[in-house]
Amino acid sequence: MRVFISADIEGTAFTTIWPETDHGEEEYPAAARQMTMEVKAACEGAIAAGADYIVVKDAHDGGRNIDLNEMPKCVEVIRASNGSPRTMVEGIEAGFDAAMFIGYHSAAGKIGNPLSHTFTTKTTRVLLNGEDCSEFMIYSWCAAYYGVPTVFLSGDKMLTEDSAHLHPMLKTVWAKDGYGGYTRCRQPQLVCDLIRQGTEEALKQDLSKAMCELPKHFDLQISYKEHRDAARYVNYPGFEMVDSHTIRMQTDDYYEFLRCVPFVF
Ligand SMILES: [Zn+2]
Repeated sequence: MRVFISADIEGTAFTTIWPETDHGEEEYPAAARQMTMEVKAACEGAIAAGADYIVVKDAHDGGRNIDLNEMPKCVEVIRASNGSPRTMVEGIEAGFDAAMFIGYHSAAGKIGNPLSHTFTTKTTRVLLNGEDCSEFMIYSWCAAYYGVPTVFLSGDKMLTEDSAHLHPMLKTVWAKDGYGGYTRCRQPQLVCDLIRQGTEEALKQDLSKAMCELPKHFDLQISYKEHRDAARYVNYPGFEMVDSHTIRMQTDDYYEFLRCVPFVF
């Protein structure tokens, strides 16, 4: 079994403030360590379910957060970026049996995580087909676009609740809950144990029933904190101005949506 894993840091067990997510900050190494241990737990769950080849995309910031020495030997880690529209799922392709997402966070503007954002922190709200658009929504649908079903998600509690309907056999584990500026965090080793168990259970399901149905049409609306960003990014082909802070584009081709993301956030 071939499994793809994408990992972020803002939905791991205890990250609460931005310096914990930034290379070079004093608080960062502990958070990167926890991200590594959560990914390791997911790999161990996958191996217990029969995986013999795992690709991990280190998908936070510059893609250089995971300690590869902790990974089982059947794991390859994709680090940094080549600028393709797959971004947080770089390396996804037909032939993987399932995708899993670790350490993901709520969408821009959501109150359930102090670190909520979508792609960057320039936006106050991002709507895709009228629904708050998380990075999990964008890139788990990207996996579906390549024919790979998503079966597991860990992250903040609000994200796991908001995302439950996106994939028919999605299993979730929440690592922390938040409200405004604070978080209530589960014990980090417990989070790893729950991820280890949840990923194994998720991959032991009948994966032939796990594929979601992608929408036929995509209607993206982005509201920026700064009107200057709306005025700038509306120049990407296909966008129109909605109001002084908001731009919109519509397409039937999910790849066109994925292509715009790195350019308008
Ligand atoms: Zn991140």
